[in-house]
Parts: sequence; structure tokens; C-alpha cells
Amino acid sequence: MQDLILLVDDDLAVIKTMSRMLAGVGKIQFACSGADAMRLVREVPPSLILMDSEMPGMSGFQLCKLLKADPALVHIPMIFVTSHNEVAFEVTGFEIGAVDFIAKPVSPPLLQARVKTQLRIKHLTDELRRTSMTDGLTQVANRRSFDEALDREWTRSRRNAASLSVLMVDVDHFKLFNDRYGHVAGDQCLQRIAGALKDACLRPADIAARYGGEEFVMLLPDTSREGATHVATRILAVVAALGVAHDVSPTAGHVTVSVGLSYYDETTVGWVACSGELRHSDDLPSVLNSARLLQAADKALYADKLAGRAQAWMLDPSGLEVSSEARKIAPLGRSADVGGGS
Ligand code: GH3
Ligand code: MG
Ligand code: MG
Ligand code: MG
Repeated sequence: MQDLILLVDDDLAVIKTMSRMLAGVGKIQFACSGADAMRLVREVPPSLILMDSEMPGMSGFQLCKLLKADPALVHIPMIFVTSHNEVAFEVTGFEIGAVDFIAKPVSPPLLQARVKTQLRIKHLTDELRRTSMTDGLTQVANRRSFDEALDREWTRSRRNAASLSVLMVDVDHFKLFNDRYGHVAGDQCLQRIAGALKDACLRPADIAARYGGEEFVMLLPDTSREGATHVATRILAVVAALGVAHDVSPTAGHVTVSVGLSYYDETTVGWVACSGELRHSDDLPSVLNSARLLQAADKALYADKLAGRAQAWMLDPSGLEVSSEARKIAPLGRSADVGGGS
């Protein structure tokens, strides 16, 4: 796929000249002001931005700072194209995040060489970032990526009074599966389950991750207990539908999973209904935190295992404190509680 290169300059003649010079290097897009550039970048982030340092309105330096402050845009490399050649000017540019400087008037072979170099580096760092966040076996997000997402989404949901749910998914009797079919088949089974979990994520913001071993986790932003219950039920169904044979499983003739759910929504004990005016999530009551949400999902999973596996159970995150019991949510029809709870 062709790289998208954004040229930003208030002088249209410069844009025309540079567009011609870079015609074979990538797909060219241009903006004549910092504000227009921001709009374009937010629509489709380019692979590289070449920008004039001096423009009326927003300067190139200001634009650079804005891009660097946005987590979604921070990885776009920026080159300043400028008639300044003072050392202090360039040092400031590098300090705020530019990757290179190109002097005006622009030399065509030098421009092409420097742009190609930056695109090569960008491809490598993108790939590095992707692999450092992905589980090698199953190609879903890894534990590190999940931990970061959980922190981020927890803070966001506390600030915005938005719901957030988390599901722990553990493969049932997987040791027996490995013993019976071998580790290669075990690995393939984990890959298929990961694929099924990804399919069960219906919203773009949902994240399926491998938590470790044969345990997966799903993070569902803006999803209440009720919504997460549907996802948990769907997970049981899609994994069963894979039909991976497990003829030594005491639970079923095929591979099954158990799901533990916890949620932060208006039904959660400790829910803060209107946190919009609070600038920092630290200002909120500290009884609940993201670790508790995960612990509650894990505890619900444990109840599920005790109750026979291939089910989904849930627990309020405050349940860790008040010794409330996990509740069965799927499949419904059989006894719905364990451990003497209501
Ligand atoms: P339970 O229903 O209680 O969860 O039983 P289980 O056998 O699934 O749980 P246990 O924790 O006893 O065993 C998990 C097994 O998962 C042990 C290990 O051999 C297997 N496992 C963990 N990671 C991998 C992996 O990457 N590949 C394969 N093939 N097996 C794995
Ligand atoms: Mg200018
Ligand atoms: Mg396990
Ligand atoms: Mg297991």
C-alpha cells in the first residue's frame, strides 16, 4: 500500500513543487494551514508530515506540539521544511518531536532520500510496536497491551461516568486436552479460540487479549452488565460452535470455556453517577479500581469452575469486600448460585 504523505505550507507554489518531487514516493495530500492539516490528520493519519515552520495562524511548531500531545497521532513522523538554518532553531524543532529538517530551496534528490529514510524507519517502528503489543501464538492483544488498555479505559469510564465491563475466559480441562491430543493441537486450539473471541467482539473499541496460558480476557468499554452478559453468552456459543473435539473432557465432547464477568455500571456498588466535573479519577472514591474489576471477574470464573464449567458467572467488583456471591448468568435454567449466596 502507498504511503500517505501530508505537505503543509501556506505557499501553494512550494506545495506544487514538492508534490512533483515526491510523486513516485507516496500518495500526496496537502494543507495550506495548521488547522486544515489537523483536520486531515484526524480523518486519515498520514505516514509522514512535511511542514513549513512559518505559517500565518498556527505555526509549524505549534502544529507539531498539537500532534505530539495526541496519543493517536504521536507516532506520525514530522519533517520541517524551512529557510531557517540556525542551530537553536533546529534544536528546538528536534526537542518538540521533529525527526528531520530540510532546507529551502529544496533539492529534489535530497528531499526524496530523506523522505524515503523516514518512511523506512516508520515502517520498522510500526511493526515493532505492533509485535510488542501482540501475542505471538494467537495474534490477539497480549497481556501488556491489555493492562494498558484496562488502565486507560478505567480512568476514562470513571471520568465520564461511562460503563466498562471485563470478561475472563478460561479454557476448560485444557491440561487434559494437551495430554490427549498433544501440544501442537493445543496451540492450534488456542488460536481458534482467540479467533472466536475476536469474532465475538462486535464493537471496534472491544479488546480481546491473551492473559496468559489458556486464559483470555475481554475489555468492553461503554458496556454495562447487561451488554456484557450478551457477549459472555455469545462467547460460550461461538466456542462451542468451533466443535473442537475433546473426548476426555468431563464437561462435554468438545472444547468449552468458562467465563467470569465483572462490570462497572450504574448497578455497581460504588458507582459514581456524575463524575464529569471531576478532573482526575483520583478524586473519586478509591474503594474501586481496575485491579478489583479484574479480580472480581476472576472470582466469578472460579465460581463457574466450581459449578461445573462451560458457563458464565458474574460478580460486582465491590463483591470482593462484602462477601457477596457470584451469580450464574449463562446458560440459564439450572441452579443459579453457588456457595450459599442468594
Ligand atoms: P480448568 O478447567 O480447571 O481450567 O482445567 P485446566 O486443565 O484448563 O487448567 P490448568 O491450569 O490445570 O491447566 C492449564 C493447561 O494449559 C496447562 C498447560 O499445559 C496448558 N497451556 C498453557 N499455555 C499453553 C500453550 O501456550 N499451549 C498449549 N498447548 N498449552 C498451554
Ligand atoms: Mg510559510
Ligand atoms: Mg487457567
Ligand atoms: Mg483452564
